[in-house]
Amino acid sequence: MAKVGTAAALDSALLEWDSPLFRMAASQFEQALLHAQIPEPIAERLRHPERATIVSVPVQMDTGDLRVFPAYRVQHSTVLGPTKGGIRYDEHVTLGECTALAMWMTWKCALLRLPYGGAKGGVRCNPRDLSRGELERITRRYTAELAPVIGPQEDIPAPDMATDEQTMAWLMDTYSMQMGHAVPEIVTGKPISVGGSVFRNESTGAGVVMVIERACERLGWELRGLRCIVQGFGKVGGVVAAELRAKGATVTGIADYSGGVVAEDGLDVEDVQRHVREHGAVDGYPGAPAVSNAAFLETPCDVLVLAALEDQLQGANAGRVRARLVAEGANGPTTIEADAVLAARGIPVVPDVLANAGGVTVSYFEWVQDLGRLFWDRDEIRSRLAEKMVDAFDRVWELAEAEEISLRSAALVAGIREVAAALEARGLYP
Ligand code: NAD
Repeated sequence: MAKVGTAAALDSALLEWDSPLFRMAASQFEQALLHAQIPEPIAERLRHPERATIVSVPVQMDTGDLRVFPAYRVQHSTVLGPTKGGIRYDEHVTLGECTALAMWMTWKCALLRLPYGGAKGGVRCNPRDLSRGELERITRRYTAELAPVIGPQEDIPAPDMATDEQTMAWLMDTYSMQMGHAVPEIVTGKPISVGGSVFRNESTGAGVVMVIERACERLGWELRGLRCIVQGFGKVGGVVAAELRAKGATVTGIADYSGGVVAEDGLDVEDVQRHVREHGAVDGYPGAPAVSNAAFLETPCDVLVLAALEDQLQGANAGRVRARLVAEGANGPTTIEADAVLAARGIPVVPDVLANAGGVTVSYFEWVQDLGRLFWDRDEIRSRLAEKMVDAFDRVWELAEAEEISLRSAALVAGIREVAAALEARGLYP
C-alpha cells in the first residue's frame, strides 16, 4: 500500500465521531502503535471507521404522541469479515461513543481470532422510561432503518446495555419479515427458540471470570477466597458475581446505577439478585450496608470488576482504588489517565478487549451454528470458550512480558497486528 496522509494532517476535531470516548480509543490505538510496528498507511486506514450511519427513529408512544429518537450504527472494519457488535439503548449514546466502541470491537475480534471486524450501534433513549411496546416499536423501526447496511454477511448486531434477547428476537423478526424468510444469523444473543445459543447469556460474564482465574494463576494467587467487588449487576456483572462465588471467591461488594452494597464477610449473590428482580435496583437491599457509587470503587478488595459503563476509573479516583487486580467487564471503564495511575501503582488491569471477549466469542459460535443449522450443547460451548479465552490471555500476557508493556497495550497490539496483516495482504481497493 502506498504511503498516505497521516493523522497529523487531519483535524480530527472536524470529524463527526470526535468525542471524549473516541479520543480515548484513538489514544489507546496510538499508544499501541508504538509497539505494533505496522506500516503507517495501514495505521491511517484503521484510525477511521469504514462506515458511520445516523438514522432517526420515529415511534408512536403509548400516549399516541410521536417521538423521534436519534440512533446510530458504526462499522469500523470489514478487513477480516462482517462486522459484529452490540446495540445499546441509553440516554448518552452518540455517534462518537459508537465509533469508539466499534474500534475496540475490531481489536477484540481480531485478538480472539474471530473472522469479524468491529461495529456498535445504539438508540438514544432512556430505556427505563419506556414501556415494552415502545421498546418493541423502537427496535423494529431502528432495524428497518438499518436494513440496507446490516446482514449476516455484512454486520451482525448483538445485545449491549439495556438490550436483551427479546430485543434481538424483535430485530431478527423484523429483518426476516423484510427478507421473506427466517434469517436467524442476522443477530446473536437471541432466544434459543429462534436459533440462539445456549450459554450466550452467561458467556461474557463467564469469560471475565475465566481470564481472572488465569490472571490469578499467572500472579501465583488462588481465586478461592479472594475478596471481589463487582460494579454493574446486569447481564455481565450479574453473571460475574455468580461465577466468582461458584468458584469459591468471596463477593464482598455489588453495585448498580442506584448504588452499592458491601459486606466484608461476603454477600449472598442470589439474594441480591432476588432483591433486584423484585425492586428493580440494588438500592434498598436490606442484607448489607449501602455505599455510594463513588465510595464503592474505593472499597478495599483483591479484585475489582468493572462491569457497568465507561469512564469509571479516572485520573482523580484511580489513586484511591484499593484493589490488587482490576478486570474490565465493561467497555472503556478506565481512562488513559487512570491507566497510568494504576500502572504506576503496580495494579494490573485485564483490559476490556480481552476480559469481556467471551460474549462476542460465543456470538461467533451462535452465528456459525445458525449458518450450519446445527447446535452444540452447553459443555461444548463452555469448553470451546475457555480454550479461546485462555489462548488469548496467554498470548497477551506473554507479549506484555516480552515487550514490557501493559496488558492493555499488549491486547491492542496483538489485535492490531492481526488486522494489519490481513489489510496488508488484501491491499487497497481499487
Ligand atoms: P446491562 O444494562 O445489562 O447492565 C449494566 C449494569 O450497570 C446495570 O446493573 C446498571 O444498573 C449498572 N450501572 C449503570 N450505571 C451505573 C453506575 N453509574 N454505577 C454503577 N453501576 C451502573 O449491560 P451489560 O450488557 O451488562 O453491559 C455492561 C457493560 O459490559 C457495557 O460496557 C457493555 O458494553 C459491556 N459488554 C457487554 C457485553 C454483553 O454480552 N452484554 C459484552 C461485552 C461487553
